[in-house]
Amino acid sequence: MTFPTPLLAVLFDRDDTIVFTDPQIYREAALWAAGRFGLDAAQVGQTLRAQWTDTMARWWHLRTLEEEATFWTDYGEELARRLGLPPAAAGEWMETYPYERYMKPVPGAREVLGGLRARGLKVGVLSNTLPSIDRTLEAVGLRDLVDVAVASCTLGVHKPNAGAFLHAAGALGVSPQAVLFIDDKLENVEAALALGMRARLIDLRGETEGAIHDLAEVLGLVDSVNGAGQDAALTAAR
Ligand SMILES: [Mg+2]
Repeated sequence: MTFPTPLLAVLFDRDDTIVFTDPQIYREAALWAAGRFGLDAAQVGQTLRAQWTDTMARWWHLRTLEEEATFWTDYGEELARRLGLPPAAAGEWMETYPYERYMKPVPGAREVLGGLRARGLKVGVLSNTLPSIDRTLEAVGLRDLVDVAVASCTLGVHKPNAGAFLHAAGALGVSPQAVLFIDDKLENVEAALALGMRARLIDLRGETEGAIHDLAEVLGLVDSVNGAGQDAALTAAR
């Protein structure tokens, strides 16, 4: 009789898994800019969204925080240009509404991450994102509960490439078999499974059958593999 390898770490995707972009902040930013610079709020909102979509491909190759800082400076200047504002407006805008301000923690995220750590597991985040992952997790109040945060841009390797997952497991100091991976994209879940990780799809909108719909379900998944109350055995295994 064989027993499954106990889970020693849970590796989370960031966006739409433990963090979400709040549309309300877009509205707030548009209203702020409309008032501050005498613009039409609806036009500002449209421009904000359009520019983010247009520049998606541009941040994919940023490797360092310095490169990212330059990217955001340029981003602010382009935003100002699109709205007919002087370049001086860009700095104030980007300082008032930086990237991380649009993010919110998924409800219950702190309890789930804390619960995993209380069970003796490590917590990792692996996100296809810009180098500033620490700053974003700090902004949503989760950084102190994360042992390892990996931004794919910093690696130059993005999910679903196996190298991204293996790097994260290595940084957590565990084998892929001891990792539970949670992501809202099926291709990433499948890539993790192919590496021997346990993995589950999450759909916080509650629409995908077979996916977990509430982040709190992760605690139950961990307990079902490790057996509730086996904290001592887990600790010994490390
Ligand atoms: Mg995601």
